[in-house]
Amino acid sequence: MSRAFDAIVIGAGQAGPALAGRLSDAGMSVALIERKLFGGTCVNTGCMPTKALVASAHAAHIARRGGDFGVDIGGAVGVDMARVKARKDKVVHDARGGVEAWLKSMQRCTVFQGHARFESPTEIRVGEELLSAPRFFINVGGRALVPDMPGVDSVQTLTNTTILALDTLPHHLVIVGGSYIGLEFAQMYRRFGAQVTIVEKAPRLVAREDEDVSQAIHTILEAEGIALRLGAECIRLRPSGDDIAVGVTCEVGEPEVIGSHVLLAVGRRPNTDDLGLDRAGVAVDERGYIRVDERLRTSVDGIWALGDCNGRGAFTHTAYNDFEVVAANLLDHEPRSVSQRIDAYALYIDPPLGRVGMTESQALKAGHRLRVGKRPMTRVGRAVEKGETQGFMKVVVDADSDAILGAAILGVGGDEAIHAILDAMAAARTAGGLQRTMHIHPTVSELIPTLLGELRP
Ligand SMILES: Cc1cc2nc3c(=O)[nH]c(=O)nc-3n(C[C@H](O)[C@H](O)[C@H](O)COP(=O)(O)OP(=O)(O)OC[C@H]3O[C@@H](n4cnc5c(N)ncnc54)[C@H](O)[C@@H]3O)c2cc1C
Repeated sequence: MSRAFDAIVIGAGQAGPALAGRLSDAGMSVALIERKLFGGTCVNTGCMPTKALVASAHAAHIARRGGDFGVDIGGAVGVDMARVKARKDKVVHDARGGVEAWLKSMQRCTVFQGHARFESPTEIRVGEELLSAPRFFINVGGRALVPDMPGVDSVQTLTNTTILALDTLPHHLVIVGGSYIGLEFAQMYRRFGAQVTIVEKAPRLVAREDEDVSQAIHTILEAEGIALRLGAECIRLRPSGDDIAVGVTCEVGEPEVIGSHVLLAVGRRPNTDDLGLDRAGVAVDERGYIRVDERLRTSVDGIWALGDCNGRGAFTHTAYNDFEVVAANLLDHEPRSVSQRIDAYALYIDPPLGRVGMTESQALKAGHRLRVGKRPMTRVGRAVEKGETQGFMKVVVDADSDAILGAAILGVGGDEAIHAILDAMAAARTAGGLQRTMHIHPTVSELIPTLLGELRP
């Protein structure tokens, strides 16, 4: 006998709890199943712990730079990793508790803790319990990809999850992967005082960004003493006494880097391999992402997939937006689709990179005739006042329609300032329209109209 519900949500990540709330408020009986930690990746092993650690690293960095601001620290700056970890753990613990309490307070929602596996398109098993429903919402997220690289099983490596348990400083942290997750850990551990080397297969960091963005990030990280080994085409691992040797084979430099710890940050994979999707008949693509349409419906009627597991986004805000799209279509009869949203995200090195829309090279590839505005942060008053002038801001505009196609703000406050451009794009404002908007002084955002007044072919 199965226990029947109106709707079953699998995963308490960034879409599931909010959706459970809306379904419950709409009068449905809801089961929410979570196998591990309430709040999922973002709260427990992703955004929140990393941004809490980035904040500690920033404090250490600014303390070391105290003299630049006329502030004497009166001795060497020390970082107590146990206290850094305890602060991070509290941020995570409080947020996780908040999600759990919220879910358990929902009127018509029953929370099950255990691993969910489909038995059929309308039934799912959690431990001894068999649950059934006419509607399923899959929000199972993803996990770190452990690549099949030579020697990976011969040494102990870290992922974004296991590195969070460290409460001591690695002597030398080698990070395999020079993209978003790897760079955040690289800079924070360097600021905590570790020797850090990034080993990256591609010839440049964050290769999805424009070359000038990659180059500026390279300069920022190198200036802090992070060693960069790019174009590492033959990465392999082997034990070396108590340490780990990471084979690099770059054209320049030693063929191996010897690290005390190795973090693998080479991508993510969806948690769809152990969900019994074949029994439900839900189709996945060649990388395991659940195939969905614009409204996040899977190949099976009555089953939706939201968040990282559908391959349509890899962020907390995309997962939450997935919830909004599904809820709008299902409960509000408002036709919304994921293709309506504009790509936007941030990379939380310091200074952060805020990104929206197309990169310049994507816009060129798409056939646009461009006008581009670019300004170094050394010419942004707010950045000068704060003594944080690394990076630049750049906006890409269609020369024919004056539509804003995309922007990058790599600089102090870039993660916030980018929203001025995102919101203008969402409101379909032209570059000329945004240029005429009065912004507040002194801010980073106030230079956006100036930037738009300096567009060049
Ligand atoms: C180091 C790191 C830093 C990040 N920083 C940022 C950032 O700054 N900003 C940002 O926007 N994004 C960031 N992200 C990405 C962000 O964390 C994810 O995009 C987001 O958490 C995706 O949410 P989700 O709801 O799809 O899945 P998740 O949050 O992963 O939640 C899925 C849940 O499903 C549960 N689950 C899985 N399988 C089952 C099963 N079979 N049965 C029951 N439960 C199951 C899991 O236990 C998990 O709790 C970061 C990620 C990492 C790894």
